[in-house]
Amino acid sequence: MNVEIISVGTELLLGDILNTNAQYISKELAAIGINVYRQMTLGDNIDRLVRSFEMAFERADVVLTTGGLGPTGDDITKEAAAKYFGQDMVLDQESWTVIEDMCARYNGGKDRIPKNNIKQAMFPKNADIIPNPNGTAPGAVFKKDGKRIIVMPGPPREMKAMFKNSVLPLLMDENSDIFRSKYIRFFGIGESGLEMKLMDILNSQTNPTVALYAKEGEVLVRVTARAKDEQECMHLIDAKIEEIKAVSGKYIYLIGDDSISESQSEMEKVVAGLLHEKNKTIAVAESCTGGLVASYLVSNPGISDCFMEACVTYTNNAKMRRLGVKEETLEEFGAVSHQTAVEMAMGIASTSNADIGLSTTGIAGPEGGSDEKPVGLVYIGLYYNGKVTSIKKVFTGDRRKIRERAARTALNQVRCLLVEE
Ligand code: AMP
Ligand code: MG
Repeated sequence: MNVEIISVGTELLLGDILNTNAQYISKELAAIGINVYRQMTLGDNIDRLVRSFEMAFERADVVLTTGGLGPTGDDITKEAAAKYFGQDMVLDQESWTVIEDMCARYNGGKDRIPKNNIKQAMFPKNADIIPNPNGTAPGAVFKKDGKRIIVMPGPPREMKAMFKNSVLPLLMDENSDIFRSKYIRFFGIGESGLEMKLMDILNSQTNPTVALYAKEGEVLVRVTARAKDEQECMHLIDAKIEEIKAVSGKYIYLIGDDSISESQSEMEKVVAGLLHEKNKTIAVAESCTGGLVASYLVSNPGISDCFMEACVTYTNNAKMRRLGVKEETLEEFGAVSHQTAVEMAMGIASTSNADIGLSTTGIAGPEGGSDEKPVGLVYIGLYYNGKVTSIKKVFTGDRRKIRERAARTALNQVRCLLVEE
């Protein structure tokens, strides 16, 4: 099946809003192996839209549109589809009853409904109407001679719900295969670095497909297989994941289904899970991250079983007074140093009696860097079982990014420790 997407709305052409609908639909279709050969964006102009249907059907079987289903004169998507197929539009009484109710509630009475709302209930006789529980504009499948135009509303919330609940099942039904995905989250490697490692896998992919997504300081990989049943899909996916692990396993911190967040790091959740599983307690001493590590930990419900306390020790004096960092250490090596990170981690572990002591000290910028100690330099100390270590990192980005990356890298240190435990 070949699909093309037409996004309708002059506001898109003016650059007033970003065309997120086309991105969403393309991504969802790619996940189930449907090819999208072209996306077009058009203004609210009926003749140009009719012409674009002609162009799209030169190679597509199905055209998906979003936008232009509103009640006003500039909303012309359905009219253009009907014109292209040479069909007349008639009132669909069932749709009108729903729209009338909705509009009456909104406008304070049936007699106050603007006349042009009736336009939203007009469809060709043979169209399959798709209800829209989130707005007044129903969608529809216009069809003729094996060609289909599926029109959906513009507002992303309405469009997404309609696409997921009604359009996607319709397209999937025609495909006897099923699609399943697993997601892998990587930490400590950039997108291009991972791309290099996965080069052979990426270049030779057919089924499963492997897609890379860069996320805030992390990379997400989606592995999608197509097969006749669940078991076969999982078999294909797991074999591909083994290949991926073989070349990049040490950066993987989580493998799961689509319950893995696509947008946010899962690091704190993974660390909290490991602390529970291994029955370990943790305490944190933070300088440059200023409480972010503690905040990430506390975002997990039930963490009070494992998380004992955190200290934000920003000044040298606080580091000495609260954590017992030695004055000589600070004088000789400075607050941003291996030695200070180590003493901070030991200090918080011993005063809190936690199993694990974690510390951060660094230069978040934008000022305060030097040749020897640049902005982004961070030391992370880790105390466990009588041993203490520290790592040195130089992060890029603005103050916020440096702090977030430092905090998640600190948590990743704990993860590595617990995984090996
Ligand atoms: P419409 O259905 O054309 O009246 O669109 C209503 C609203 O939906 C627009 O004002 C936009 O805010 C939003 N919208 C329409 N098309 C898109 C699109 N392709 N991507 C994101 N938002 C859109
Ligand atoms: Mg519009």
